[in-house]
Amino acid sequence: MRRLIRPYFAGASGYSYAKKAEDVAREHGIDRVARLASNENPRPPSPATIQAAANALQTANRYPDERASALIKALRRYHGDYRFVTGSGMDGVIETVIRTVVEPGETVVISTPTFSFYGLAAAIYGARVTNVPRREDFSIDPASFIEASQGAKLAFLCSPNNPTGNSVPPEAVEEILEGMEGLLFLDNAYVDFADIDYRPLMRRHENLVLGRTMSKIFALAGLRVGYAFVPEWLEPYYHRAATPFALNSVSAAAAVGALADTDRVHETRDHVLEWRQRFLEEVPFRTYPTDANFVMIDVAPHTGDEATESLAAKGVLARSCTSFPGLGDHYIRVSIGEDWENIRFLEAIKTL
Ligand SMILES: *Cc1c(COP(=O)(O)O)cnc(C)c1O
Repeated sequence: MRRLIRPYFAGASGYSYAKKAEDVAREHGIDRVARLASNENPRPPSPATIQAAANALQTANRYPDERASALIKALRRYHGDYRFVTGSGMDGVIETVIRTVVEPGETVVISTPTFSFYGLAAAIYGARVTNVPRREDFSIDPASFIEASQGAKLAFLCSPNNPTGNSVPPEAVEEILEGMEGLLFLDNAYVDFADIDYRPLMRRHENLVLGRTMSKIFALAGLRVGYAFVPEWLEPYYHRAATPFALNSVSAAAAVGALADTDRVHETRDHVLEWRQRFLEEVPFRTYPTDANFVMIDVAPHTGDEATESLAAKGVLARSCTSFPGLGDHYIRVSIGEDWENIRFLEAIKTL
């Protein structure tokens, strides 16, 4: 029956998931593993957020509000008067945007090295993917990005970028928006850890989508809530393309709760800013400036796979960057975790 599978999936390997903490613990006989591989918030959601989700569970026999109106209202309260769409994680939003605008055979442009899902999702819809390499220091060259984008329907840019950690200055994003004909999806998964605001660009440009997630600073990775700032013209078509009820009612309610938890967000941010500075100062390998809740490290002469294996043996789960398209094999990415996790990581990396 395997002949029924689309040739694309028969050949492609799919998304690379982080190793499971339980597996690492078992392999190395360690009770508690420092989970620094997925850029999650190490703190669980607040009691108020958990209560909001529990309340929503009481009416889980009913279908969700198809437009997630309560969440949209909370987003307007949080960000101001913009248009928003939601999805099952930002990954769900990315997929729906691709589905809304890209025909098979059309070009999707991606700035690499970066998050792998843009390329995977575009290929699933039959797009032709053009990778535009960043400069040696991982900054963006707007001119080459614009040139590669001529004739493309959609382009992806991640800022702060996963896994390199650096941001694209808003002026460079604006230059790209003015130079390209298609839509720019600017992935802002980590923008809450940076001192940059791209939102004003939404007021001046019709070809910008800002992707956001509740999985990182808002601590809801397990509930899969993503959203985007969209131009008004795109909104009705996004809804036509979307899977009905993609965002479930419990997750939507938790997201409303988490958006109201501004104290938690500030605490997380302060904690991350303090620790990432310490990582940059104390890691005895080349690190890269970061605006996110993780640090990329060049572990040469080791490979990323060797380094993550060796860290795992010491109870630290980090991410080898070998699966990121366009990056060499000697990088790892380490998230900022709780104090004990960060301390254990710093001790481990010093003896690599
Ligand atoms: C984590 C992450 C996302 C996806 O977030 P979800 O909302 O959990 O799907 C999107 N983009 C980047 C760059 C990420 O690191």
